[in-house]
Amino acid sequence: MSEETMNCLFCRIIAKQIPADILYENEKVLAFKDINPQAPVHILIIPKKHISRISDLEESDKDIISELIFIAKKLAEEKGIAESGYRLVLNNNKDAGQAVFHIHLHLLGGRKLSWPPG
Ligand code: AMP
Ligand code: ZN
Repeated sequence: MSEETMNCLFCRIIAKQIPADILYENEKVLAFKDINPQAPVHILIIPKKHISRISDLEESDKDIISELIFIAKKLAEEKGIAESGYRLVLNNNKDAGQAVFHIHLHLLGGRKLSWPPG
């Protein structure tokens, strides 16, 4: 592990050094339950490649982002919230409240979500 990924919470979850409630895994992405759920369904879908934030995306990362969204769509079906509805959130940097600097797509659902977000 590089120093950057050794210091990254989500890279350590990918490496199974820190436990998580994993719901889906393939060679490119991992999905696990958020430790502090904000809705009855709150899942994080992350790329296995360490990318700190959306601002750091490169053109070659485009496929990874579509993979995150596609896995979120499948998990929403599995969790039975596809019809009722759900929200996909990518927080980028300080004003959005990004706390973990490894890209993660939030899948939130199972309750009525207010808009606009706070
Ligand atoms: P963000 O504010 O978009 O950076 O979201 C970070 C999310 O990671 C929060 O919703 C946290 O509850 C979640 N989180 C932090 N640590 C863990 C962990 N060890 N396992 C699962 N989720 C976590
Ligand atoms: Zn990382």
